[in-house]
Amino acid sequence: MLIMVKQSYAVIGLGRFGISIATKLHEAGQEVMGIDINEERIDDGKFVVTHAVVLDSTEEESLRSVGIRNFDYVIVAIGNDMQASILTVMLLKEMGVEKVIAKALNKRHGQVLTKVGADWVIHPERDMGERVAHQLLSPNVLNYIELSRDYNIEEIMIPSGMTRKNLRDLDLRAKYNVNAIAIVSNENLIISPSPEQVLQEGDKLVVIGHRDDITVFANVE
Ligand code: ATP
Repeated sequence: MLIMVKQSYAVIGLGRFGISIATKLHEAGQEVMGIDINEERIDDGKFVVTHAVVLDSTEEESLRSVGIRNFDYVIVAIGNDMQASILTVMLLKEMGVEKVIAKALNKRHGQVLTKVGADWVIHPERDMGERVAHQLLSPNVLNYIELSRDYNIEEIMIPSGMTRKNLRDLDLRAKYNVNAIAIVSNENLIISPSPEQVLQEGDKLVVIGHRDDITVFANVE
C-alpha cells in the first residue's frame, strides 16, 4: 500500500491546466488552495478545492495575506499573460516559497521563468507530445520518469515470454542492462523484489536504466 504524505499546494490560475492539477491533488487528499484574479473562475463551480481565493498574484500584499509562504508547493498555471506569470514567480521566490512550479508557453518564457527562480518549469504541449511519441514507439511502456537526459525509470507491461519465470532466471541486468526496482502485481506494489519473485501474467515491471536499454527491453516479444 502506498502511504501518501499530506502536503499543501496553492494553484494560481484556474484555467484548464490549473484546474486539472488542483482537482487531482484534492482527490488525492491533499490541501489545495485555488487562486484566480477572475471571480467568475472561482464561482463557476467547475472544481473542488480546500479553499478558493480571488486575488491578483502580481500583488505581493495579496499573496502575503493568504500566507503563500507556508505552502509546500505553489503552482503558477497562468499562461497567456506572460508578464503576470513571470512577475508572480519572481515574487514567490523573493517571498521565500520553497518550491515554485510554473507553466511556460514557449522556450523563451521557460528560460525566463528559470532565471527568476522557478524550481520546475513545465511545457505542457511539448512534454505531452514527447510522452505520446514515447508511448507510440514502445506500446508496452505504461509510464515513465526521466531521471536525466539518458536515464529513465519506466513501468512496463511484461512480455508474455517472461511470465512464470523468476527474476534470477530472467537475469535482466545481464541480458538487457536494466534493473528491476518494483513489480506491480494485481494492484500490489512489491518494492525491491527478491530474485525468487515469479512474474505472473498481467504484472508490470518497474525498471531503471539507460533509456536505449529500456527501449530494447520494452520491445521484447
Ligand atoms: P488554460 O489554457 O489552462 O485553460 P486559459 O487559456 O483560460 O488557461 P490563461 O491565460 O492560461 O487562461 O490563465 C489561466 C488562469 O490564470 C485564468 O483563469 C486567469 O484568470 C488566471 N490569471 C491570469 N492572471 C492572473 C493573476 N495575475 N493572478 C491570478 N490569476 C491570474
